[in-house]
Amino acid sequence: MGKRGYIFLPGGFNKVIEELSKSYRIYAPVLKVGEGRFTDTDVVRYDFVKEASEIELDKKSDYSFKEILTPLSQTLFFFTENDVKESEIDEREVLVFLRSCDLNALKRLDQIYLHNGREEDYFYARIRDKVKFVLMGCAHSYEDCFCVDMGTNRADDLDYSFSVDYIDNRFHCQLKDSVLEDVFTNNALKEQDITPRFVTENETRVQLPDSVPLSIFTSDMWEEYNTRCIGCGRCNYVCPTCTCYTMQDVYYTDNGRVGERRRVNASCMVDGYTNVAGGGEYRKKYGERMRFKTMHKIYDFKKRFGYNMCVGCGRCDTVCPEYISFSNIINKVTAKTLEVQNEK
Ligand code: SF4
Ligand code: SF4
Repeated sequence: MGKRGYIFLPGGFNKVIEELSKSYRIYAPVLKVGEGRFTDTDVVRYDFVKEASEIELDKKSDYSFKEILTPLSQTLFFFTENDVKESEIDEREVLVFLRSCDLNALKRLDQIYLHNGREEDYFYARIRDKVKFVLMGCAHSYEDCFCVDMGTNRADDLDYSFSVDYIDNRFHCQLKDSVLEDVFTNNALKEQDITPRFVTENETRVQLPDSVPLSIFTSDMWEEYNTRCIGCGRCNYVCPTCTCYTMQDVYYTDNGRVGERRRVNASCMVDGYTNVAGGGEYRKKYGERMRFKTMHKIYDFKKRFGYNMCVGCGRCDTVCPEYISFSNIINKVTAKTLEVQNEK
């Protein structure tokens, strides 16, 4: 069912963005021409914008929004011999444009950083408190998306300030955040009930396993990734739901008593992730890492929180230099599970 919304001409919507950019930093997918992985290829990644025309509303973003909440490298505090000083953050509010799969991914990030244990993560929460979201409707499915089977193609129940769909040279926006009402009313062509667009089918399909037998964990199905995967970690860095990080202390002085502590994104697919004190190292084989990542995304997170971690954005499929498809892996786990169940 539609909710209260507004129709804008391009100029009117641009005025809204200009007005909002006075009080919010606006973070949105931007087409970066010639900055792709290969010569003469483009990439869509997040950046700050001040005008509507800078926002890439049509293409799917190759990287996710998550760096605004979990920066690749974030200084937490500075230390001297006697003092610790917390790092400062930009106090301005942020508006993030994102699609339904990513808004569903935000729910996963919040789950891990805010609701996974007795204490919420202070450094995540202090940024999260300043961020609001704008839902970008999906007019069609994109390559590698499997959001429908993951149940993340819709975001009706999730928290966003307004939605945006560009249809026939008009911007269609559903408004949920009453704080923005004046700027919308002042620049709109007219008011109208609006339902954000969402997809109902994807070309890529996955079948999820109901339960996973223990034998999957020791199955030889993982062995092909020992040689196919190169452990580059790209799949983790583009994933909107990967939350692992490591800590780094950077020393300014030779005696190691003055410096800063940083939190830095980590990847369960790269060397060093499982290193422990005393020289121990686990999951040395890439196939073992693939098993760990897969089971986290479609098995153990759900066992703990009741829903899958993976949102089916398909970015890991698109970015993998070895053409390893995560959606294929999900289907292989399910096929293997059915095989084991049928043997009983
Ligand atoms: S595992 Fe792949 S498809 Fe699933 S949310 Fe992460 S990047 Fe998207
Ligand atoms: S992007 Fe592909 S090759 Fe790189 S770690 Fe992930 S699955 Fe392996």
